[in-house]
Amino acid sequence: MFVCLTHQVRSAEDGGLDKLDNCALILAVLAALAVQVSAASVRAPFSTIPQTYLTFEIEGLSDQWVLMSASGEAAHYVSGDISLGLKLEKLAEQTILHVQLKAPVSRKVAVKSYSAKIVLPRASLHAVMVPNQHKIARLLDYWGEHHKWPDDVPLYRNLISENFRQAAPTNAEAPFILITDERGFNKVAVGWAAAERGSVLEGAVDGESYVLTLERREDLPFDGWRFKDALIFDTSKRPWIEVEEDYARTFDRYNGRKHEPIPEWATEPVYCTWYCYGDKINQEGVLKIAQKCKELGFGTILIDAGWDCHPNGGYIDFENGILGDYVARPDRFPDMPGLVKEIHDMGLRVMLWCAPFWEGKKSRAYQEKTSSWHMRDADGNELHELCPKHPEVRKHLFERFAWVAKTYDIDGMWIDAADAVRGTCYANHPHTEESMGRAFVQCLSAVRSGLRSVKPDAITEARVMHANLNTKDVLDVVQPSDAPYSYEVLRLAGIHLRPWAYDCQVKNDPMIWGKKADAATVGKFLATMVCSGVPALSVDFLTAPEEHCTLTKMWLKFYKEHKETLLKGKFVLFGEDFGSPDMMLVGRDEAVVYVKNPATKKVELPKTVGRITLLNCTNSDRIELAFTPVPRKMSATAYYPDWSPAGEKVIMEDGKLDCKVPQGGAVVLEVQ
Ligand SMILES: [Zn+2]
Repeated sequence: MFVCLTHQVRSAEDGGLDKLDNCALILAVLAALAVQVSAASVRAPFSTIPQTYLTFEIEGLSDQWVLMSASGEAAHYVSGDISLGLKLEKLAEQTILHVQLKAPVSRKVAVKSYSAKIVLPRASLHAVMVPNQHKIARLLDYWGEHHKWPDDVPLYRNLISENFRQAAPTNAEAPFILITDERGFNKVAVGWAAAERGSVLEGAVDGESYVLTLERREDLPFDGWRFKDALIFDTSKRPWIEVEEDYARTFDRYNGRKHEPIPEWATEPVYCTWYCYGDKINQEGVLKIAQKCKELGFGTILIDAGWDCHPNGGYIDFENGILGDYVARPDRFPDMPGLVKEIHDMGLRVMLWCAPFWEGKKSRAYQEKTSSWHMRDADGNELHELCPKHPEVRKHLFERFAWVAKTYDIDGMWIDAADAVRGTCYANHPHTEESMGRAFVQCLSAVRSGLRSVKPDAITEARVMHANLNTKDVLDVVQPSDAPYSYEVLRLAGIHLRPWAYDCQVKNDPMIWGKKADAATVGKFLATMVCSGVPALSVDFLTAPEEHCTLTKMWLKFYKEHKETLLKGKFVLFGEDFGSPDMMLVGRDEAVVYVKNPATKKVELPKTVGRITLLNCTNSDRIELAFTPVPRKMSATAYYPDWSPAGEKVIMEDGKLDCKVPQGGAVVLEVQ
């Protein structure tokens, strides 16, 4: 596929556009016949894609594009001495519109911005599924505004009756919009193909139309005699999640990307110190909880914020903070290498939290070396973040993280707060030539290669927004943002990772529940957790009721027994409400089916399997479902949330299940 696409791209350049130069002599003849278009804007003259207008803001461009030639698949325009080539490529369900600008060799072209405007008939459009920053992805913003985590959020961003506008810089989003019908099937999906360029995405009601705009505008004008990007269209009626994954795959091929294999240990269940202990952590406490976690079945301990800064918010403190040195606090972690060794000796891995762009003014790094490397805003104010475009920063990050790996022998870093980096830096310090987006990804890459220069199987992990399609190549594990007390919001936010992170390891954000939670509630948290990628919890098991520890141990055992299906099975959404869908993971000969909506009455399996584990996360103690294709005669055994049997075995003969299943528990169907 990769070869095929790049070949197609090349043929658009060489076969199509180079011919344009040879056409210069007949320009005068054609000009008389040519259609003139509005200033610097053209409508792509193709009937096989939605109505699309392209606009370019180019230095020195005359005010018109003149159409030189057009066929069903290609069109050539000129404006002054700049040419614009459009070429369609059909790729299975997608149609790709290749866009290329070319200037004479004697002069460089500075493209300040460019945009695509797509006009769609509103009828039959229902919801904007992607982009999806509010509120499902930007959960920390929600917390900042409301001081609580959202209780309920639909999977889609907004209905088509509403407008939206969203910045999509490289450290926050992909340049992609997808609109569904009222059942969650794709109607129209469109996205740019070139990676690491900042974008702004918009949708607006305009009479009977819904108008999408995907504008690309970086702080650095694109410069070069040949400039290209492509729009990827998909109007096939398929589940939205499949269409988005196809977009991500084409995006990766277009940019020549292939994810490196992810170390197997990245699939080990993670215990995180954050939600139960905050930044008030110390060596003795971490060791104690690690011992307990070993007993419960965790494989990795994540020492979150607080290990290298002052407690009570020191991690976020620019003026008086010490972040940036990566030195374990001697008062609370007198012997970090010793602690890591003790945890390693238990057979567990250890990860540390970091915010690589944040650096406090009281750090040694700032005082001695990096004070002029910080970003500044338009008013000249110095910011907390190191500037990704400063040429020294990536070398600095490489060295620091090689040092961290060597000094503490840790196995990976959990990268935080990188989505706070702004798109433009106004500091009067040197900047590299590339765009901010590209520089940002290069800095994240330096973190990983620094770690791996010492520990070849070290991993990097990050949450959205800075974990996204642009950055995933330098990340191994990706997860949603924070909603620790709501398994449902985390579940839905996690669904949005799957299509673009098809080649990374998906994980849930560490969950926590109340100390008084009953078994059904804890069971629902844990059932959701095992269906959302690598398990992660942040419960204080040292003070939790024994029942919570038992439940956790049993569900981590379930995860290990069904890991192949849970992590590598085909992920399918179904059910009565696509805004809060039910879901399943279908493996070689088993399916794990997660039911949330009591109104769902049908389960359509993509194939017959020998074993179906149905997890009851509804608010009903009875499950009534019809399976297709109708399985062979199966026995059904219900289980309590702690996986002890609940009631007698019943036989399911005609594919119709109707039995009592405890909430937060399960029913296992097995071929007789
Ligand atoms: Zn800068």
